[in-house]
Amino acid sequence: MKTITGISASPGIAIGRVFIHTHDAPAVPRYAIEVGQVEAEMARFVAAADAAREELRLLRAGEDVGEDQRAILDAHLLMVDDSEFRDRVQNGVSDTLMNVEWVLYRSVQVLLEQLQQSESELIRARSTDLHDVTSRVLNRLLNRETVSLADLDREVILVAHDLMPSDAIAMNKRMVRGIATDAGSRTSHTAILSRSFEIPSVLGLSNVARYAESDEVIIVDGTRGRIVLDPDEATLAAYESESQEWHRHEVQLMRLHDLPAETKDGKLIELKANIEVPDEVDSVLTHGADGIGLYRSEFLFLGSRYLPGEEQQFNSYKRVLESMGGKPVTIRTLDLGGDKVAKSFEGLAESNPILGWRAIRFCLSNLDVFRTQLRALLRSSAYGKLNIMFPMISGLEELQQAADFVDEIASELRRSGEKLPDVPVGIMIEVPSAAMVSDILARRSSFFSVGTNDLIQYTIAVDRGNERIAYLYEPFHPGVLRLLHLVVENGHRQGIPVAMCGEMAADTFATILLVGLGFDELSMSSSSIPEVKQIIRGITVREAEEIVGEAMEMDSFKDVDAYLRRLMEGTYAPLLA
Ligand code: PEP
Ligand code: MG
Repeated sequence: MKTITGISASPGIAIGRVFIHTHDAPAVPRYAIEVGQVEAEMARFVAAADAAREELRLLRAGEDVGEDQRAILDAHLLMVDDSEFRDRVQNGVSDTLMNVEWVLYRSVQVLLEQLQQSESELIRARSTDLHDVTSRVLNRLLNRETVSLADLDREVILVAHDLMPSDAIAMNKRMVRGIATDAGSRTSHTAILSRSFEIPSVLGLSNVARYAESDEVIIVDGTRGRIVLDPDEATLAAYESESQEWHRHEVQLMRLHDLPAETKDGKLIELKANIEVPDEVDSVLTHGADGIGLYRSEFLFLGSRYLPGEEQQFNSYKRVLESMGGKPVTIRTLDLGGDKVAKSFEGLAESNPILGWRAIRFCLSNLDVFRTQLRALLRSSAYGKLNIMFPMISGLEELQQAADFVDEIASELRRSGEKLPDVPVGIMIEVPSAAMVSDILARRSSFFSVGTNDLIQYTIAVDRGNERIAYLYEPFHPGVLRLLHLVVENGHRQGIPVAMCGEMAADTFATILLVGLGFDELSMSSSSIPEVKQIIRGITVREAEEIVGEAMEMDSFKDVDAYLRRLMEGTYAPLLA
């Protein structure tokens, strides 16, 4: 038995047999050619690229290919047609007088090595796309069959050094129960897609492909971010029962689907979903969400090598709004920067990016990018119930500037004949200064949504991604609780709803506290909605307020943590079952 820890890319437990998906090609032939053969070599290359393009087109036209998958295939199509790349191969063939497969292979190796050495996780993630497209062209040149995961006819756990995005799109998703790869990060395409397909996945395992043997039993624990190869009987039995328990629990919770998240004394809390890509809408609806509380629009940009234009953005927003059938959808304007740098804006290295040129700051100094997004958003508002939300607002000036810009663009669109409903414009509260002046900000906002992921990081000065100081990252820190309390008070005093869309909203130990603090809406990944709903339906606002009263008197997060643990593992334990 061997346990390997990686990055949790998509939660859940999958147990099955290893299917090794390999791109390891037979050796690429290497031979010299005559000057007179250069043209013929290039003709072979062009024919292979044409065939690869045709394959990609066919994939793209597939019935179950969603819009974001299409965007990935579009990026691959652009790579196949990239003239700079073709010139590089052509020059390589005429300069070295070597066969075209070899020149292609070597040129891409050099490029891949450069990409792999990049500090940026996003650049490294894009090397997968380049590898994918090149393998496709090489397969054509060498008359090799492309390995197809679309034809999988038995349930498997996919193990690979790196899973290509086009494989993830094309694979037979009903047969892939879990994914384990050596490479990959949470922002790689494969991670994004595995989450949207709800396939338990662990990426970044470094050497799973080396240790795994075809057909051996493997456990993918996507929740904890680890895999177990060849598990012993006891481990297998424990995971089997955990997996059954997980499914039994999920089925039971799904019975709450049509019931409101209403406390025993009649207060309705809106439970909404966070999404990154439009394909997640199905899961949002099956988990009974009251709407989408946070659509992280920057993922459309992160997934693309080119800036998505107004039409592409408009189509994505429209699709989400229409699919939600009139339920509210809050789309957050670009939260690029920090750890989320789009390929199109690379090269803007900062020494302190988390405190740097990100989110609304970035948009306000790239008004053309902001304008394109706002036009797409406002135009899409005719197709559903849209709310627009600004990230990382730190004070009134930014809010005023951004809100005025929305008004200006709405007037522009109306003057050109667009019929637009009034769109509520709200802000995220994720910077401590915004929480402190939330009374002022509430006068110019239609709603607040607290982003605790960042609010905790900035309040306690603890990098949310640094595991060395993770012990300090504490949602129940009295400093954080006081800010949450202040934001809800100030929002309500001005009569606007206050939501939470950070991860704390999905923490079942926090639910009772958040109800007691007075949050009107909690937004989280879809799969967490049923368990939070079950807790809300089992408590009263009165008892939640009493618990908040106790917790707010405590001196340290350890005390609050222990207090809530005692409650949730004692009196309220049946609500977690
Ligand atoms: C947050 O900061 O809590 C939030 C929801 O935004 P993100 O996680 O995208 O930074
Ligand atoms: Mg944030």
